[in-house]
Amino acid sequence: MKELAINTLQEMNRKEFNIQDFNIKKTLGTGSFGRVHLVKLKTTGTYFALKALRKSDVIKMHQVEHILNEKRILSVLDMPFLVGMLTAFQDAGHLYFVLEYIQGGELFTFLRRCGRFETGMARLYAAEVTLAFEYLHLRHIVYRDLKPENLLIDAKGHIKITDFGFAKLIKDDQTWTLCGTPDYLAPEIIKAKGYGKSVDWWALGILIYEMIAGFPPFTDDDNIKLFEKIIACKLRFPEGFDKKAKNLCKCLLTPDLSKRFGNLRKGAADVKTHEWFEPIDWDRLIRLDIQTPYVPKLAGESDTSNFETYDENFAPYGATGHDNYKDTFANF
Ligand code: AMP
Repeated sequence: MKELAINTLQEMNRKEFNIQDFNIKKTLGTGSFGRVHLVKLKTTGTYFALKALRKSDVIKMHQVEHILNEKRILSVLDMPFLVGMLTAFQDAGHLYFVLEYIQGGELFTFLRRCGRFETGMARLYAAEVTLAFEYLHLRHIVYRDLKPENLLIDAKGHIKITDFGFAKLIKDDQTWTLCGTPDYLAPEIIKAKGYGKSVDWWALGILIYEMIAGFPPFTDDDNIKLFEKIIACKLRFPEGFDKKAKNLCKCLLTPDLSKRFGNLRKGAADVKTHEWFEPIDWDRLIRLDIQTPYVPKLAGESDTSNFETYDENFAPYGATGHDNYKDTFANF
């Protein structure tokens, strides 16, 4: 978690929050039932990202359980490559997450701007995601939504995974719900077999491929055809694709769960000791004691130039009055 000034920490611990405590600046991103804004905590002047979700939409889209999971999981995470949550609160109309503001924007935007990454850059980002997955899986949390849109780049050029809307604590290592983004879905999800942390390692394979090639290995405008391609799992690599990275992609993008790296007896260790990761010093990486290949240009704490511009038309927050959804979100 980003180091915060003592007065901000005291302020965050001091009381229950409400939307009036913040000045809303710009929209940083939108989702199907809400948006993420840059906000400023009035008392300390500290900037945060505020994720606001409309309760009625969360219910309409059957996402209540997912959002409660997200809150539960975010409140226990503390790891450099996972976005930190400072607090969460609600009013009659909305649920709010106060997150550390990650200024460098989405890896997705940066990747599209670059076309593709040279191997060293892809390796570092993949290594940081690997450590994040190792941390989550040790705590029996499956992330389930890896994609470049959910990877943010912080002010120093490190990765932060955001959006824990699909993350789930799995007690018996198996779960059955269909969720995630089509291009990144593992065969066992499509086939509706029970699945666990193996899906995150599959998605890491897709990410490594996409970062190096500039496009994902399986694509189709028609989702049914896309799913057929994923299940068939015929991998083709563009010319010049790093050989060691290619081998790791094959080890991750295997439909056979008893062979997929990350999902074997040694867990994340098989991925971390793969020859493509040989240049990575894992102990230094977790301490952030390495040079990052790209440091975003930032004009100050409130710079949003690395994010796209969104219309600022949204229904006002801070509804008082009767809360029709009180019981549904009693545990938020
Ligand atoms: P989400 O609904 O969590 O997927 O967030 C939607 C978008 O908002 C993300 O893709 C980011 O562009 C942006 N966003 C989410 N969390 C943060 C954050 N902590 N800092 C900066 N931008 C964020």
